[in-house]
Amino acid sequence: WSKETVAVVTGGNRGIGLEICRQLAAHGVTVILTSRDPGAGLESIKFLSEVGLSLIYHQLDILDSSSINRFIEWLKENYGGLDILVNNAGINFNLGSDNSVENARKVVETNYYGTKSMIEAMIPLMKPSVVGARIVNVSSRLGRLNGRRNRISNAALREQLSDVESLSEELIDTALSTFLRQVDDGTWASGGWPQVYTDYSLSKLAVNAYTRLMARKLSDCREHEKIFVNCYCPGWVKTALTGYAGNNTVEEGADTGVWLALLSDQPITGKFFAERREINF
Ligand code: NDP
Repeated sequence: WSKETVAVVTGGNRGIGLEICRQLAAHGVTVILTSRDPGAGLESIKFLSEVGLSLIYHQLDILDSSSINRFIEWLKENYGGLDILVNNAGINFNLGSDNSVENARKVVETNYYGTKSMIEAMIPLMKPSVVGARIVNVSSRLGRLNGRRNRISNAALREQLSDVESLSEELIDTALSTFLRQVDDGTWASGGWPQVYTDYSLSKLAVNAYTRLMARKLSDCREHEKIFVNCYCPGWVKTALTGYAGNNTVEEGADTGVWLALLSDQPITGKFFAERREINF
C-alpha cells in the first residue's frame, strides 16, 4: 500500500471511525475522512494534523442520496475512484430507555440501508488492482445468526439466512420490514427477534448477511478487478455509542478493521472477524 491507495471511511469524525482513519493514515494510505457534519469532520482533520497526519476531508451523510452523489462526483474527479471502503457509520439507541418505533426505523435505515447504499455507490468506483479492492463493514457479534443468546428464534428464517446460496436482498428486506411492521403494531416481542439490543442486533445481522451476499455476487469479478468484502466486530468499545462503557479502547476496536482493509496478500472474502480471527456468522 502507498499514497496511491485511496481509502474512504464513513463516520470518520469520532470513535472507532476516527481511529480507523488515524491507523490507515499512519500506514501511508491516502485517507478520505468523511462525516455528515463538516464542522466535526474538519475538527478531526485538525486533530490528526496535530499528530503529524495529513488526511483529506469530504462531507458524507450515508442516508442522504444527494450527499452520496456529490461525494461520488468529487471522488471521481479528484481521485478517479477508491481502493478501500470502510463502512463504519452507525447508530444505536438501545442503551437508553428510548426504544421508540421511530428509533428502531432509524437504526435499521442507517446501519443497514445506509451501508448498502454506500456499497452500491462505491463498487463502480473501485479501482482495479493486483491485490484487489477491499470493503470492510464494521458490524457486531450482536448480529450473529447462531449466537447462543439473542438470536432469531425463527429456525426457518435462520436457516435461510445461514445458507449463502439462498441469501438475497429480498430475503433481508422482507425480514427487516416484517420486524419493523411488528415494532409498529406492538407485536415484535413475540415475533422471534433478538430480545436484547433488538433493532441494533437485527441491523447488524442484516449487514452480515449482505456482506456474504455481496461477496458471492462479486466472486466472479475478473482477475485484477477483484473486490473483497468482509465484516468484523470491534468488541465492546469505549465510545459515545456505548456511553463510553466498553471494555476495549478505540485502538483495539479499530485494529481488525484496519488489518482487513490492508490485507493485500490474502483473497479473503465474505467472512466475519473479531480480534483478527474468523468467527461464525
Ligand atoms: P460513535 O457513536 O462514536 O460513532 C458513530 C459514527 O457514525 C459517528 O461519526 C456518527 O456521526 C456516524 N454516523 C451516524 N449516522 C451517520 C450518517 N447517517 N452518515 C454518516 N455518518 C453517520 O460510535 P462507534 O465509534 O462506537 O461506532 C462505530 C461503528 O462501530 C458503528 O457501526 C457501530 O455500530 C460499530 N460497533 C461499535 C461497538 C462499540 O462497542 N462501540 C460494538 C460493535 C459495533 P455523528 O458524529 O455526526 O453522529
